[in-house]
Amino acid sequence: MTDLKKHFAVIGNPIHHSLSPQIHAVFAKETGLDIAYEAVLSPLDQFKNTMHQLIQQKFTGANVTLPFKKEAYQLATTHSSYASIAEAVNTLEFKENEIIGHNTDGIGLVRDLEQNLDTHLKNKKILLIGAGGAAEGVIYSMLEKTPSELTLTNRTIEKSNVIQNKMDVHAKSFDVNLNVIEIAKCPHQYFDVIINATSASLSDDALHMDPKVFHEGCLAYDMIYGKETSFIEQAKSQGSKISDGLGMLVEQAAEAFSIWHHIKPHTKSVIESLRAL
Ligand code: NDP
Repeated sequence: MTDLKKHFAVIGNPIHHSLSPQIHAVFAKETGLDIAYEAVLSPLDQFKNTMHQLIQQKFTGANVTLPFKKEAYQLATTHSSYASIAEAVNTLEFKENEIIGHNTDGIGLVRDLEQNLDTHLKNKKILLIGAGGAAEGVIYSMLEKTPSELTLTNRTIEKSNVIQNKMDVHAKSFDVNLNVIEIAKCPHQYFDVIINATSASLSDDALHMDPKVFHEGCLAYDMIYGKETSFIEQAKSQGSKISDGLGMLVEQAAEAFSIWHHIKPHTKSVIESLRAL
């Protein structure tokens, strides 16, 4: 690469659906930066090689998505505190002698909930469904907002227990009750905010939840965007407020953008224009 333009990429598998190149192009235009940002498909067993090729080509940074966030954590030589706690990385900075790993998913979710959806988490009861990389990546940022309770549930309940054991020390320091329950037990409790962090609907599977968990006073938030999931349909049928994860996507991208360029772009108009598409 011989030009002076800074180069960035998002790496995943699959990657064709990614909106990140579009979002970063809008941020760059708005802030007057001339950057290149592309989507790169990495073979599932070649993540490290793909990243080393980008480093050799003098890329400045990269976003990392499904299923490579754990491998990106291993690749990074230094970690931000959010990345260390989540043990997952979605934003990399390539420096002379180090690779810095960040995790902006939690900040993205919390900003979308609190700033865009006006749903403040302090003293609220939250149910987080899922125990994969996305769920683990957002827990600490939610604990920082001191909800009264954060309840975890997952199809494979043992994975929720592992996360609970890992995060309990942080929950205690913020005075938050961190519980684990089985999905079937959800309807017997009241939650203000219910977040779907599973990938069930990516494979068009229905999430087997009792619709009674939803009610008029709660916000049902699905991290997936661009499709009406069974989770959202159930929540709607019970009169709950609903949101998909488009705002989270844009907010986590904005945080990555400000890590790389030290400028915080505006997000609301980007969310609105992507939603209109
Ligand atoms: P992972 O593969 O790490 O985890 C998948 C999770 O989904 C696991 O908890 C798994 O449960 C659960 N799951 C999968 N299929 C089903 C099913 N049929 N029924 C119940 N549970 C199921 O994925 P990620 O955590 O990385 O991503 C999860 C979702 O969040 C994805 O759809 C992704 O697109 C979205 N996401 C959105 C972001 C945004 O900015 N809006 C950012 C990051 C992620 P089990 O443990 O039992 O297998």
